[in-house]
Amino acid sequence: MVYPIVMYGDPVLKKKASPIEKGSIDIEQLSDDMFETMKAANGIGLAAPQIGKLVRLFVLDASPLEDEEIGDFRQTFVNPVIVEESGNEWKFEEGCLSIPGIREEVTRLEKLKIKYFDQEWVAHEEEFDGMLARIIQHEYDHLNGVLFTDYLSPFKKRILKGRLGNISKGKVDIDYRIKAPLKK
Ligand code: ZN
Repeated sequence: MVYPIVMYGDPVLKKKASPIEKGSIDIEQLSDDMFETMKAANGIGLAAPQIGKLVRLFVLDASPLEDEEIGDFRQTFVNPVIVEESGNEWKFEEGCLSIPGIREEVTRLEKLKIKYFDQEWVAHEEEFDGMLARIIQHEYDHLNGVLFTDYLSPFKKRILKGRLGNISKGKVDIDYRIKAPLKK
C-alpha cells in the first residue's frame, strides 16, 4: 500500500517517535508499505513519521543512487540507536520527500555505528560511512522530530519561508501522493 507522504509543517514531523514493542505491530507489512511508498516517490530513505506513524522505523534503499560502491543496499531499521558518530565533518546538499523541491547543505560526521532490528526482528550492529551514513543520520533525525531545515541558519530559513509555506499548503510540483497540513 502506498501511503501519502506528510508534508513540511505537519506537527507529526516535529514529534519524537516511540520505540516499537516486539509483536505489537506488523513490522513486515509496515516495512513493505514504506518501501512501496518510497519507491513511488523515487526516494532513498523514508521514516515512519513521514507517513504519519510515530514509531521508530525507517527504510533505506540506495539503489536509485546508482553508486557502484554502495550498490543496491536496502534495509529496514527498527528501533535504531546510533551508538557512535566519528570521522570528519562533511557538507552535502540534502533533500527530503516531506520538503520537495528544496535542497540545502547540511554538515554531518562521516561515520557512525548503529544498532537496530530488521523487519524479522534480527538484531544488527553495523558501521556505515559516507552516503549511507548520511541517509541514516537524516532518517534517524526524523524519528526525533528533526528535519534538515532545522540545521539551517536563521537567514537561510527566512529566505526559504515562502517556499516552505507553499509546501505546507500542498503547492508543490511533484507526482507522488501527499498529505499537506494547510491544504484547503
Ligand atoms: Zn527526510
